[in-house]
Amino acid sequence: MSPDPENPTTSDSTGTPGGHVADADIQPAPGRDRAAGRLDGKVALITGAATGLGRVGAERFAAEGAAVVVADVADPTSTVAAIEAAGGKAIGVFCDVTDAKAVQAAVDAAEEHFGKLDVMYNNAGISMADDDGPTNTSREVWQRTLEVNVIGVAECCSAGIPALQRAGGGSIINVASFVAHLGAATPQIAYTASKGAVLSMTREIAVVHARENIRANALCPGPVLTPLLAKYMADEAARQRRLVQIPMGRFGQPEEIVSGALFLASDESSFMTGQSLLIDGGITAAYTTPE
Ligand code: NAD
Repeated sequence: MSPDPENPTTSDSTGTPGGHVADADIQPAPGRDRAAGRLDGKVALITGAATGLGRVGAERFAAEGAAVVVADVADPTSTVAAIEAAGGKAIGVFCDVTDAKAVQAAVDAAEEHFGKLDVMYNNAGISMADDDGPTNTSREVWQRTLEVNVIGVAECCSAGIPALQRAGGGSIINVASFVAHLGAATPQIAYTASKGAVLSMTREIAVVHARENIRANALCPGPVLTPLLAKYMADEAARQRRLVQIPMGRFGQPEEIVSGALFLASDESSFMTGQSLLIDGGITAAYTTPE
């Protein structure tokens, strides 16, 4: 089955496995609690959940009791299969977040299959290889990056908020980045600007819908060696250039980011809205790092 944004279809676990986090650097985070049903009874839609942080999030949310809609422009069946194999509930939906009809169909699928929608985890995002500094980044790179990272999140909120209202409230998690909070001299100017837009959009959504029991928060991961970032780490110098800026002296693990998403999705964060949750190994707290 190939993705067709005009005709989004659900998939089960029998299709071709999609990609997943494969980088050898990614190991289970230390000290993870066993699943405790923190999302029991909730329905979550996670975009970009075929691979990377979204996939780890989908599996973790399902392990914590959520029914999960795995939405991605790539094949979601491998994530769905992993969730089902672990005894969880999930469906896969082909969905390009820049396509309003496809996003609406993904939201509809949540309500049709699981009866409601409680959590919109807007995780899908791109970082383009030729996204560079302020003087040499093309209009095409700017447009595509803003289309996916900003308008894609906006489309998901636009389609998701009415469903959250029908459910009596819910939680929106918009994935931004630590680069929304500081400048990088290894620039990706369009990506950085797009993540800043996610932060400000999230604040406004939070305030507009605060009296409807709908919360909206931005999740700001530090660097994690998913495929999105690993492509910049081909040589050791590039890796060290970034590692030296991290007070904890290592990259993050997907589980460590997803733990923040789990908190934002659960009722544990019930008085938290309009915020930016940074999980970055101390990067944004640092002037200099330890020797
Ligand atoms: P990834 O590239 O590993 O996975 C991104 C997923 O999004 C893929 O499955 C991809 O198919 C999907 N996707 C891309 N465009 C899409 C579209 N138009 N519609 C639907 N799905 C689409 O990336 P990741 O590292 O897992 O990143 C997830 C999120 O976290 C992104 O928003 C990214 O910007 C953010 N983030 C990542 C890091 C990091 O270091 N990895 C740091 C900060 C923020």
